[in-house]
Amino acid sequence: MQKRRLGKTELMVSPIGYGALGLAGVTPESLRQAVDGGINYIDSARLYTDSEKKIGLMFKETGYRDRVILSTKSMGRTLDCFRKDLVASLAALGTDYIDIFILHDVSTKKSWELIQKSKIIEEMKKLKERGIIKHMGVSTHDGKNLSEEIIKSGYFEVAMLAYNAANPELESTLIPLAKSLDLGIIAMKPYGGGVLTEKRSRELGFEISAREALQWAVSNTDVSVVLPGMDSREYVGLALDVLNSDFTFYNGDKLNEIAGRITIKGRNYCRGCGYCMPCPQNIPIKEMLKLNNRWEVYFGLDWSQMTLINNEFANCIPEDKGPERCTKCGGCVQKCPYGLAVPELMEQCVKIKNYKSS
Ligand code: SF4
Ligand code: SF4
Repeated sequence: MQKRRLGKTELMVSPIGYGALGLAGVTPESLRQAVDGGINYIDSARLYTDSEKKIGLMFKETGYRDRVILSTKSMGRTLDCFRKDLVASLAALGTDYIDIFILHDVSTKKSWELIQKSKIIEEMKKLKERGIIKHMGVSTHDGKNLSEEIIKSGYFEVAMLAYNAANPELESTLIPLAKSLDLGIIAMKPYGGGVLTEKRSRELGFEISAREALQWAVSNTDVSVVLPGMDSREYVGLALDVLNSDFTFYNGDKLNEIAGRITIKGRNYCRGCGYCMPCPQNIPIKEMLKLNNRWEVYFGLDWSQMTLINNEFANCIPEDKGPERCTKCGGCVQKCPYGLAVPELMEQCVKIKNYKSS
């Protein structure tokens, strides 16, 4: 498969990279296997336990440092933390430069404000002038206004976004925006945090294979590189198989067909049609159940997504229209063409709202 340009960095990357989350199955051997098979992008983070150390070991054993475009990330929100993270990352990776240094998970207004206030951006620019950081990047799980603001800020050359078949809306929002500004687009979580795999999707009542999920993300050529997690030889093999096969891009119909399969049948999945409205208690049922849909997908599986949904709940649903106002009048149930048990779902929404304190 041909390499793709990573936006204004002008780096040429394999369309599939190695998402080296700090999991047991990520080993120097699996990393080497991936590079030998044609993957030239590896992504780590200070937070990914021993991931950087394993990558450093692989470099030491193979001498592959210069064959790999390497990114790592810092969650530092003060200058001191940021500097300490960078020093520790360089030491663990056994390198004196990072190709793309990424500010990790800038998904709340507060973290974005802290980063700007603590002059981390200015520090990154200086490090770039010294060649320690080659390019500046940001990762975010926010799908809306904050990400737009960050992408438009002009500081970054690369944006890492959670893009997958369960979250295709980015195709009409952040992806074209980032592309118009010539940012390199990196898609993380093509398996939706493990949801878009055979076993987990069946448990949730729909069917999708990990291969379909990966091909779905790679089919978008506006995305420079897709980063599947590879915590076993099986997943390294799958990624290399897709990368090196006679891969045919899914067309629009196929892409829609796959994304349309991802429903939680029989589990109160709201289609967002709005026929149930208005609610006498002014509850925005549709908006609330949209968050509940995502909660059902990620519950117990991806804590970062759960926290994000909980944050969105607090930001998007006004206090005086909260789910606890539901009187169980049943009007919405009669109007819903799918017969959703909305009052029960309102109870679940109360739990999502109180997730932090539970
Ligand atoms: S059951 Fe609850 S959510 Fe539905 S219309 Fe009545 S008050 Fe509103
Ligand atoms: S009518 Fe049913 S499916 Fe449509 S928005 Fe309301 S609860 Fe959701």
